[in-house]
Amino acid sequence: MPINSLPPVPKRPHYDAIIVGARCAGASTALLLARGGLKVLAIDRRPYGSDTLSTHALMRPAVLQLSRWGLLEPLLKDGTPLVEATTFHYGDEEITIPLNTGPDLPGLIAPRRAVLDRILVDAARKAGAEFLHDMAVGDLFADTCGRVRGVEIRGAGRAASRVSADIVIGADGIGSLVAKCCDAQVLRSGSVSAAHVYGYAPVEPGAGYHWYFRDGIAGGLIPTNDGLACIVASVPTRLFDQRFRLGHGRARMEVLEALSPALAEQASRAPTDARLQAFRGVPGYIRQAHGPGWALVGDAGFFRDPITSHGISDALRDAEGLARAILDGSEAAFEIWRQERDLFANQILDTTDAVAGFDWTLADLGERHRRFSAVMKAEVLALAGQSTPVCGAAGRPTTYRAPANQDEPRANPGAPGASNLYRNRTGARP
Ligand SMILES: Cc1cc2nc3c(=O)[nH]c(=O)nc-3n(C[C@H](O)[C@H](O)[C@H](O)COP(=O)(O)OP(=O)(O)OC[C@H]3O[C@@H](n4cnc5c(N)ncnc54)[C@H](O)[C@@H]3O)c2cc1C
Repeated sequence: MPINSLPPVPKRPHYDAIIVGARCAGASTALLLARGGLKVLAIDRRPYGSDTLSTHALMRPAVLQLSRWGLLEPLLKDGTPLVEATTFHYGDEEITIPLNTGPDLPGLIAPRRAVLDRILVDAARKAGAEFLHDMAVGDLFADTCGRVRGVEIRGAGRAASRVSADIVIGADGIGSLVAKCCDAQVLRSGSVSAAHVYGYAPVEPGAGYHWYFRDGIAGGLIPTNDGLACIVASVPTRLFDQRFRLGHGRARMEVLEALSPALAEQASRAPTDARLQAFRGVPGYIRQAHGPGWALVGDAGFFRDPITSHGISDALRDAEGLARAILDGSEAAFEIWRQERDLFANQILDTTDAVAGFDWTLADLGERHRRFSAVMKAEVLALAGQSTPVCGAAGRPTTYRAPANQDEPRANPGAPGASNLYRNRTGARP
């Protein structure tokens, strides 16, 4: 943005859907709703094409969806390598599983987030969705019946402005403002968490995913863009607090060395000044999926430890389910989405925590991985049996219409004499 120019503003006062957060969950939802003919605004406080915490590995469900949405090709064109095999290293034992490929699944991929999220945003823009980056949603507003009616946007150099929508979607990650403002109920909380510390090193072309496990520690090598592999060391959060306090670099190398000297050697090929990223861990949770005038997708609604690399798959699956419900517009469609989301979220949280808890032995870990893989297989079958979301039966959007607006949003919330009708859901005054 040129110096002195003001940030862009929403083009309309009202949208069919406003999405808070524009990464894999938000941009996917925007893409599918815009392709369904809806007027969509997505807002993210981070810049367009920026990076975020991720070890990038996509599992079968995510690749299948990207392929069906026509986005696998641009991802491959951007230099994302195809991964055709996964090797599990249980101590000194190695098990290589070739991928069962098909037309929609030529291989797995692990695109950098600056690549994946950008391609999703570009596709959604092309479909007609509007995006505002570098702008934060500071609050939500509701009508007197408590139904969410829109958001308050805050951008540097501009006064806060309000935009209304039939539905506000929180795709705003773990710390979701939308979930907080809507008092989204926590349906389930996990009790374990793992820490992950990763960096990048050059890797030979054709490498597959490699997952390493020894008692109490884990790691992975994930080939990504630019001839690099993401190399991650994972430990229970309590061990991270003890061992990584004095510096991530050395502690990570000790874990990688213990897992496999070859993995540590690969990691040591990184430039000496290469930065590491660390995530201390957050126990998994499942939040209520939707309520009057709002819904949650991606990490905002469901978080599971990154150890099973399934967060992006969850985000894309839920984006598709929610888009289908919104485009259908009926309460029944929302109920179908909620049930499907809760079913998969519960199974994925169970099977992920069975690995992230580090309470396994090398002898029983393979069985835990097979349970996780069986859930993914069911997920792939469920996705394959569904068409991509389309408009209502009449062939035009039957948008999820909020019941008649009892309180039209004010253009200027701070105007003298304004009542507290629009007091936001967090209780703060505008
Ligand atoms: C260390 C780590 C490694 C991981 N590795 C993998 C992996 O290998 N494979 C995998 O599938 N998953 C992985 N995950 C999980 C995956 O990254 C998440 O599941 C995924 O990013 C969720 O996407 P999202 O769009 O829901 O949320 P996010 O990616 O968190 O995006 C939320 C966006 O909302 C924006 N936002 C938040 N609040 C506001 C606001 N008030 N106003 C405007 N914008 C707002 C943020 O700026 C952010 O850009 C990993 C996670 C971590 C932490």
